This record gives sequence, C-alpha cells and structure tokens, in this order.
Amino acid sequence: MSPMNPRIPCPMNIITDIAAMQQTASRLRREGKTIGVVPTMGYFHEGHLSLMRRARAECEVVIVTLFVNPAQFAPHEDFASYPRDFERDCQLAEAEGVDILFAPTAEAMYPDGYETFVTVENLTQPLCGASRPGHFRGVTTVVAKLFNITQPHRAYFGLKDYQQCKVIQKMVRDLNFDITIVPCPIVREPDGLAMSSRNAYLSPAERQAALALHRALRHAEQMVKAGERDARVVRDAVQAMIAAEPLAWIDYVEVVDAETLQPVEQIQQNTLVALAVKIGRARLIDNTVIDAVR
Ligand code: AMP
Repeated sequence: MSPMNPRIPCPMNIITDIAAMQQTASRLRREGKTIGVVPTMGYFHEGHLSLMRRARAECEVVIVTLFVNPAQFAPHEDFASYPRDFERDCQLAEAEGVDILFAPTAEAMYPDGYETFVTVENLTQPLCGASRPGHFRGVTTVVAKLFNITQPHRAYFGLKDYQQCKVIQKMVRDLNFDITIVPCPIVREPDGLAMSSRNAYLSPAERQAALALHRALRHAEQMVKAGERDARVVRDAVQAMIAAEPLAWIDYVEVVDAETLQPVEQIQQNTLVALAVKIGRARLIDNTVIDAVR
C-alpha cells in the first residue's frame, strides 16, 4: 500500500520462489510490519475475497498464498481437474489491495525425498476426516510450511471449512506457532449456496439441487429455535431434506459439539450441524453453529 494514500493499491508482487518469499517476510518483520496471510487454493470467489479484505483491514502487509496442495487430495480425488485461473486470481487479489501473491510449485514445496508431515490426531478423525483419510494431514503440513515461509502474525481462514479452521487452531496451539488464527464467516450466494471453487463443477440442474444443503441447515436452525433439542431428530430431519433431492448423495450429516467435534445427544450451546454432500462430481460441504439458549 502506498504510505501517501492507503486507498491506492500498489502493484501486487507475485513471488513463486520459496527462499525469496521467506527473505521478503523476514525483512518485513525486521521492519516491524504486521503480516497477515490468507492461504488458498485459488479460483477466487467472494469467500476468498472476504478473507483478503479482513486481512487488508487488520494488517500492514497482506500475503495471499495460492497453491493447489497435492498432499491433501486422495489419488481418486479432483486434484488434476481442480479449477485454476491464475491470471484472473492475480487481478482479483490485486484489486483487493493484496501486497504479495505467493504461488510456489508443487516440486518446490515437496521435492524428491520429502518426508515430514504434521498430524493433528483426534480433531481430524470425525466429519471430513472420516470420509477423506489423509486429507487433514495434507492440510496441516502445507499450512505449517506456508506459515514458516510467510511468517505471518495473523492468518485468515473461512468457517465454511469449519473443521479445517479448528484443526489449524489446534496445530497452532500444540506446536506454539506465534500466530493468531482469524476465523471468518461463511460467504453465500444470494440464494444461500455457500461459495466454493467446486461450485464451478455444477450443471444448472445440480446448482439448483445444491440449494438443499443450505435449506436443510436453515431448517435445523428453525427446529432448534422452535424448541427441539434432540440431536438425532434434527439430524434425521436434515438428512431427510437432502435425501429428498434426487441429485444429492449424502456423505455425512452430523450434529456435534462445535469445539470437540464429537457427536452430541442434546443440542445445547455451541452445537455444530455439519454436512458433506456429493452433487454430480462436486463434493460440497456446509455447516451452521447453533446456540440453543434456553
Ligand atoms: P480454498 O481455496 O477452497 O482452499 O479456500 C481458501 C480459504 O477460503 C479457506 O480458509 C476457506 O475456508 C475460505 N473459504 C472458501 N469458501 C469460503 C466461503 N464461502 N466463505 C468464507 N470462506 C471461504
């Protein structure tokens, strides 16, 4: 950002080299700058941009990392076909006043002989961890590496990936990273669909079917508001609403404690309703945190 007028963004610096990024981050720290990082896999939408805006408002230097991390995809998953548009992403990030876009190659991040991984053992077991074995090991490993490379004071994560946020917070606590994790609210399309790069996979009919996810979560919120406290009743209702959509294939619907991610019987304060649903080739996730204040 220009020190003369903070509203005029400077040209964004694109860095692909890990050592160059690390040296730049070290220099910025020596200069006393507050660094905010937004880790992403690119193909930006308003969800990503909301994280960038928050970082821009809170930090002197904003670094966005763009890396489609092979370590968090299983062999049968969509790593090869994951949507990518580097030029458009650069334009969008620059328009948000991002200072540095860090986009390393997979070969540089995981050179031949790479063998060190970070694992959060228990929080990664339920929900997406159960249906995507190894996924969070890939996430925590790459985020730990990105933290070491970009040396942020603050790191911004979206609550659309609720479990990911919790897992990263746990890693940061357990490994004593001196970084504040900033969870950011879910950004939705006007009709309620949570924004996701994977929404690009949806045909018009599938896009319509995908509305069942948010509709079912809203229904869960309304049930609790109306007094329902039995987690199984709420879970079954959510499941039934999504199952009624012929194009939807349910991976999981769970009602869990929002901190431990363990199933609850009674809905009390801080309960998470989380779901993963396949529609066509897109695996979509969404969630809501419910506070049942009696
Ligand atoms: P991704 O590129 O999908 O790995 O996402 C990068 C970051 O953006 C993660 O912290 C996500 O949780 C966050 N994010 C993705 N979609 C949304 C959304 N709809 N609302 C808020 N944050 C999001």
